[in-house]
Amino acid sequence: MQKGILIVLSGFSGAGKGTLMKELLKTYDNYALSISMTTRNPRPGEEDGREYFFTNKENFEEKIAQNGLIEYAEYCGNYYGTPRDYVEKQLSAGKDVILEIEIQGMRKVKQMFPEMLPLFITPPSAAELKRRLTGRGTETAEVIEKRIQRAAQEAEGVEDYEYLIINDDLQTCVEEIHSIVQAAKRVPARNVGFINNIREELNVLSKGE
Ligand code: ADP
Ligand code: 5GP
Repeated sequence: MQKGILIVLSGFSGAGKGTLMKELLKTYDNYALSISMTTRNPRPGEEDGREYFFTNKENFEEKIAQNGLIEYAEYCGNYYGTPRDYVEKQLSAGKDVILEIEIQGMRKVKQMFPEMLPLFITPPSAAELKRRLTGRGTETAEVIEKRIQRAAQEAEGVEDYEYLIINDDLQTCVEEIHSIVQAAKRVPARNVGFINNIREELNVLSKGE
């Protein structure tokens, strides 16, 4: 079984990452979305084990000590991290695993998995970002302000990503993400096993003739 690829999806808070992931997973069955652990409080409608594993600081720090997280970062006063077990299992099962994480996490993952695919999601404009954050209605004006400040910092790191994806029309954006992933799977650096194998076979074949 060919291993799946690891996809890191980052983007400003309110860009539409969660909404896009829901649509992508509904439409295609090759993806597995990693569920992160966080110390932030659940938003109305969020469920433990679905959007996040919600936990406290002590448990989170214990998980770090056990080497149970691939990476973790602090974001607007809370810890967020990627549990190791699920990612490794799903990749081995041939799934394309998506980590919906911020930029510090992406940089750590890149060191461990240089062949991972980093995608950055943005809305068409800053004004639209503010509209979406406000329209979501899940954060106070103060938290929205913090997240917009964080977005301004994150915008400085966009060039570290392989693709910039503009989430204007939702469905078009879902298709674009899927096409990019399919194309990325055909990049030689992500097919080292196949290439080495066919080289060996060709060597054997050419010597036999
Ligand atoms: P993120 O996970 O990046 O923080 P969400 O998925 O929660 O963002 O989306 C933020 C808000 O923007 C939500 O209210 C969502 O319904 C809305 N939204 C997402 N994508 C679009 C889009 N393409 N066009 C208009 N609104 C969108
Ligand atoms: P939110 O509170 O809006 O759900 O997430 C805040 C930020 O944390 C987003 O940028 C999201 O991508 C990021 N995030 C979520 N889970 C993880 C994680 O496991 N690791 C890291 N590094 N960032 C995460």
